[in-house]
Amino acid sequence: MDKTITLSDIAHNPNCMDDYDPNSMPVKKARQFIKQFLEPVTATETLNLCDSLGRILATDILSPSDVPNYDNSAMDGYALSAADLTAAELKVIGTAFAGKAFNGVVNSGECVRIMTGAVMPQGTDTVVMQERTNRDGDYIKIAEAPKPRTNVRYAGEDLQLGQTVLNKGHLIRPADLGLLASLGIAQVNVYRKLKVAFFSTGDELVGIGQPLASGQVYDSNRYTLHGMLARLGVEIIDLGAIADDRNRLERTLLNAAETADVVITSGGVSVGEADYMKALLSQHGQVMFWKIAMKPGRPLAYGKIGSAHYFGLPGNPVAVMVTFYQFVRDALLCLMGQTEIKPLPTFTVECTAPIKKLSGRTEFQRGILFHDENGAWKVKPTGPQGSAILSSMSLANCFIVLDVTVGNLDAGAMVQVQVMDGLV
Ligand code: AMP
Ligand code: MG
Repeated sequence: MDKTITLSDIAHNPNCMDDYDPNSMPVKKARQFIKQFLEPVTATETLNLCDSLGRILATDILSPSDVPNYDNSAMDGYALSAADLTAAELKVIGTAFAGKAFNGVVNSGECVRIMTGAVMPQGTDTVVMQERTNRDGDYIKIAEAPKPRTNVRYAGEDLQLGQTVLNKGHLIRPADLGLLASLGIAQVNVYRKLKVAFFSTGDELVGIGQPLASGQVYDSNRYTLHGMLARLGVEIIDLGAIADDRNRLERTLLNAAETADVVITSGGVSVGEADYMKALLSQHGQVMFWKIAMKPGRPLAYGKIGSAHYFGLPGNPVAVMVTFYQFVRDALLCLMGQTEIKPLPTFTVECTAPIKKLSGRTEFQRGILFHDENGAWKVKPTGPQGSAILSSMSLANCFIVLDVTVGNLDAGAMVQVQVMDGLV
């Protein structure tokens, strides 16, 4: 794609881009297209270590010391010099505990009883496991000698002073909290939270807790979006459900674009008569409307309103979730400052039931990964795959991703699955 073409050029004249067909946009191309307009947040804040979980590092972390920063025993046993591994017997001259070192010097013919984590006494470089010795009063005999210099954790073995431990742009996970703590780091500099505003659109939507009249549905998109955004760790601005009323939609949209970095709406981007969003977006932003070659989730809008990024997701509940995971998730992680955005874990497994699929579009069917009686992972579809059948998402633990070229499949076909659990 030509980087010199601006979003505004394309929004106002889709034909200016040769390989851009708004009526049949491949999933991959739409993703790449969005990517070129994403500029991560730059403001940062300093947080206490525990509060930084799920946030993105704004600076490289260098190790302020060696880890471990002294040679210590990896076992409960006896510390000695490797030269004494063949001695007939050794005299035990003291004990070294974790946090309470043995301060003497160990000479030839001597050893020290040592606990895991204790500093290796001067004159020793090897630990014999307690179970491999026979003790008799103040003396031990080695029943089975280890290799020289084993059972010791040497200084700098894990991390060395000055080494880059974590890179700027890294998403902080539980292991990282421990790693940073092991370096004595109490505070970290992270990017500020991304602000994401969202609202649902539609005259038929009713909030939970209200009675439902004929022709109305509860606004479920608001809750799936809340859940998916909460997992990503962004600041959520929930603007509720807005009826198909041009003025209310306009006010809400402009308010959202002013307060948030990203605005997400669901519904109203298809071609229904009451779909005012399209007109509003062409008036106030540079937004492209695509018919993505995918199912579910055909209509999708992306663009900018002022400085805010805009994602217009379809109204159908499953389509909202699929388009969020396939387009919005990556984009938000990038805007949050994450540099190495990993795709959802994908692997190939046997599908135990036949699959109906039209070629010419990518399908994201909902599947259940399970292991069969032999312990092999296999997948089966959840059942009916309509884009309004939200129970399919609830039942599923993966997407069965069926590429554009794939058609109907018989039971036993190998398919690609994208694991949903553990998604951020
Ligand atoms: P739309 O894209 O606005 O034409 O909506 C497509 C379908 O999704 C319609 O059946 C809507 O009733 C339904 N829908 C739209 N928004 C929501 C929502 N927030 N919660 C549940 N269903 C919705
Ligand atoms: Mg609607």
